[in-house]
Amino acid sequence: MNYRHAFHAGNFADVVKHTILTRILTYLMRKDAAFRVLDTHAGLGIYDLYGDMAERTGEWRDGISRVMGADLPPPVAELLAPYLDAVRAKNPDGNLRYYPGSPFITRHMLREQDRLMAFELHPMDANRLKENFAGDFQTRITQLDAWDIFGTHLPPKEKRGLVLVDPPFEERGEFNRMAQSLEKAHKRWPGGTYAYWYPIKEPDEVETYVKALKNTGIPKILRLELTIRAPSTPPRLHGTGMVVVNPPFVLEEEMRAVLPALANLLSDEGRGHWRVDWVAGE
Ligand code: SAM
Repeated sequence: MNYRHAFHAGNFADVVKHTILTRILTYLMRKDAAFRVLDTHAGLGIYDLYGDMAERTGEWRDGISRVMGADLPPPVAELLAPYLDAVRAKNPDGNLRYYPGSPFITRHMLREQDRLMAFELHPMDANRLKENFAGDFQTRITQLDAWDIFGTHLPPKEKRGLVLVDPPFEERGEFNRMAQSLEKAHKRWPGGTYAYWYPIKEPDEVETYVKALKNTGIPKILRLELTIRAPSTPPRLHGTGMVVVNPPFVLEEEMRAVLPALANLLSDEGRGHWRVDWVAGE
């Protein structure tokens, strides 16, 4: 387990991923009924952007920093507001220094009746996460292998909510595991919303994954992608993707408004591209 999210916190991929997360949560909040979020690969929860790791790559400067400093047009500004509010909440003096990871972004949006379960396998990170959420009765942090929870923790008792799956993709079989875990989870909880992140490094790898998802026969899978540069050799992260199973019905339209603006902002010289399509329909 060498992956350290602190190197990448707040980069273009986090911006897109966390925007989608907040749009899904905003939709869940339309009803008063409680929901639960299961964050399977939670990370540390909070990242110091002036810390050694974040400064070494400086990725956040071309990610969250660009978005915070941008003059966003009205529909985009409104759609990004819940995400940017969560970032501002960790930077009350107005200077961007700390970046909240997925558990804190989720926590920022929970109402009294909602719950968050966050899983993290790395012992040090899991401990830090537990410290960060100490005393918070709405959040439960567990040090556990995420791939074990799909057969045990679903469905949640609220029967409403989101499973966010954001693995580090350190190992080659990760795309296969993603498809297999979705199949397992969907059998136990067909009505849940699932958001699975993936890196775009090698386009063929992504297409194989998408085919595997189609072959599961699971309906209602929306694909959302953004690339900030052309593919390169050797492969390097040039895009970010998310498949959302049972997406809120407004998500497609919202992301059709947001992704072009983010593609423009997060890429150099307008070389960004975006994509919204259905891997599987109704
Ligand atoms: N979701 C976080 C966010 O958006 O702020 C970032 C997560 S980071 C991409 C992936 C995390 O998964 C790392 O902190 C890593 O230690 C953890 N991890 C790796 N393998 C895991 C496993 N099998 N089960 C749970 N966590 C794992």
